[in-house]
Amino acid sequence: MPIAPEILAKYEPVIGLEVHVQLLTKTKIFCGCSTRFGDAPNTNVCPVCLGLPGTLPVLNKRAVEMAMRASLALNCTVHERSRFARKNYFYPDLPKGYQISQYELPLATGGWLDIEVAGAAKRIGITRLHLEEDAAKNLHEGFSQSATKAYIDYNRCGTPLVEIVSEPDIRSSEEAHAYLTSLRQIMLYTGVSDVNMEEGSLRCDANVSVRPRGLKEFGTKVEVKNLNSFRFLQKALEYEIERHIGVLESGGRLIQETRLWNQAEGHTVGMRSKEKAHDYRYFPEPDLLPVHVSDAWREEVRRSLPELPEAKRARFASYGITPYDVDLLTATRTLSDYFEETVAAGAPGKAAANWILTELIRWLNEKKVAFADNPITPGALAELLKMIESGQITAAVGKKVFATMFESGRRAADIVAAEGLGAQVSDSAIEAAARDVIAKNPDNVAKFKSGNEGVFKFFIGQVMRATRGQADPQAVNDILRGLLS
Ligand code: ADP
Ligand code: ZN
Ligand code: MG
Repeated sequence: MPIAPEILAKYEPVIGLEVHVQLLTKTKIFCGCSTRFGDAPNTNVCPVCLGLPGTLPVLNKRAVEMAMRASLALNCTVHERSRFARKNYFYPDLPKGYQISQYELPLATGGWLDIEVAGAAKRIGITRLHLEEDAAKNLHEGFSQSATKAYIDYNRCGTPLVEIVSEPDIRSSEEAHAYLTSLRQIMLYTGVSDVNMEEGSLRCDANVSVRPRGLKEFGTKVEVKNLNSFRFLQKALEYEIERHIGVLESGGRLIQETRLWNQAEGHTVGMRSKEKAHDYRYFPEPDLLPVHVSDAWREEVRRSLPELPEAKRARFASYGITPYDVDLLTATRTLSDYFEETVAAGAPGKAAANWILTELIRWLNEKKVAFADNPITPGALAELLKMIESGQITAAVGKKVFATMFESGRRAADIVAAEGLGAQVSDSAIEAAARDVIAKNPDNVAKFKSGNEGVFKFFIGQVMRATRGQADPQAVNDILRGLLS
């Protein structure tokens, strides 16, 4: 039964997320097997990742480096010394009978991530980031004897993961969504992971409790698993928050437990209570040396980090682009790089943002062209935008030119010249406009005469504007040169 909004408002949700991210290394964390996704089951395995007796793990340096990238991008302290531990449990997906993870000495601790919800900025603390190996994958369906047998694909076993644990700083399902979105984007920008929830390279467990507003003390928490999409995360949290409030309002008590989200039925179900929780009997991994990160190595990794989404957003905003458009442009590095290259090629920032987010995206969608196959290079788009900016053509003509560019791959100047889009005004009209502009701008005339060639563009722009973008740019150029020299 739904709970009245005024009752819901009496409670404050408290949420902490535990996120597993698969690192984009070519090989596994403790052996040389490939981590490629989608290969035939049990083809990327060896005695080490199958846990055969007598084999020894060898740490993949690249995995440590990627985990360091993630740690530094999340403002964590990377420790000089961290250590692997054995997390013992018995399950078919774990051939050794234990998972090699990090426990009391994780790679990194004490970071944060900034999010924004409804215009308000907020900092979410990151407790720790540690390295571990992934388990195998149980295949419950799709085989002739699936009804009576369990099938296991060990290809995933030993794939490097980082687990990123947040502080219980999140206060709503929207904040949880924003946190995961931002975390995902940082992992993409740093090239640490492809963070694909469908393929399981990003997995999230949510810890949630509620407390009466104003109370400092946290309530009893529940851990929710099986959240394999952003939407499920939000729905499961909303469901759990209401359930907790319902229990408390009816005078009941919550038990600390692990619950599973059932998407088909839209609710969570209890899986195991804290009393039945695993005792993992952690102890230091005797077959691996402690991980040592020198200052030099850590700083080298720090220097290799790209500009992160937050810094990029701030810089883009300085072009006068709306916050909404800034978010769209920085959503992926492909898009933000395209924008940057267009601006670097001389296009005004605001116009570049508008044209990319409206015309370009619209044409790509309409023609079902992937961004990677975009026929308009940043340089070609910049040429077009400069022609519009200088008044050589109008924005309306620009849209027609853009369409032709998209379909033919030709450059804007060619199209304008070939189709006579810029030449609609007689030479005498151009000359009249040019004389008028010169008369009204004696300062710039003086500048030009003293050798400031850059001012010439100003005159071209003014004459093009005066002729409503219909004049032939070459004619304007020739006539202005004649009058000014
Ligand atoms: P556990 O010992 O059960 O693993 P931890 O203290 O290690 O619990 O925390 C695991 C996750 O749960 C972290 O993300 C943390 O922020 C979150 N968390 C801890 N206490 C609460 C709480 N009362 N309500 C919601 N989340 C919590
Ligand atoms: Zn292997
Ligand atoms: Mg814990």
